[in-house]
Amino acid sequence: MARYTEAVCKLCRRENVKLFLKGRRCLSDKCAMERRAYFPGQHGQNQQRRRKVSEYGIQLREKQKVRRTYGLLERQFFLYYLKATKMRGITGENLLSLLERRLDNVVYRLGFAPSRSAARQLVRHRHFTVNGRITDIPSYLLRPGDTVVVREKSRSLDIIHSALKDAGPGSDIPWLRLDKARLEGELLEAPKRADIPTVCQEQLIVELYSK
Ligand code: SF4
Repeated sequence: MARYTEAVCKLCRRENVKLFLKGRRCLSDKCAMERRAYFPGQHGQNQQRRRKVSEYGIQLREKQKVRRTYGLLERQFFLYYLKATKMRGITGENLLSLLERRLDNVVYRLGFAPSRSAARQLVRHRHFTVNGRITDIPSYLLRPGDTVVVREKSRSLDIIHSALKDAGPGSDIPWLRLDKARLEGELLEAPKRADIPTVCQEQLIVELYSK
């Protein structure tokens, strides 16, 4: 599966917002958004942050921001949008709900990994089971009632314990249940928009794709 392999801090600087793609570093003063708060590239410093942006430009930036937050390529993201349009309810909210139910995102939200990219790698390396079965597909879409458990042989991994110690975000997410002692989590229900902490205007993405 193709993936983005360049410096991820550039993505935050391009979107002019912290996307929290690097775990603990994002909260430190080493964050590139703290040190170089201008667009990346040779002429980044000369570009005005407040230049007039077209309606299309605003919609495009919102889509890019969300796509990059969840670490997806364009095609994958668009397929989630198509799926969201076929579901009942509000398309933008459906889109976010689908993205949140990805296994790598749930591992991250539960606090088993410091970032979504770290969560993806842990999943790829077969450190988790879903409903008792080893699952190494980061895009695996969880359903309500599904349980995610750290495998027996992976329970001593430092990255998991330090991530849990640092964050423990699962306890703040009402649609997730986290059992830290058993290194186990559960998706209680499909996430509702009000319970998804991603800051974005998802309707702009729908407007962009609907053109
Ligand atoms: Fe973004 Fe984190 Fe890099 Fe800061 S450290 S620019 S929040 S990825």
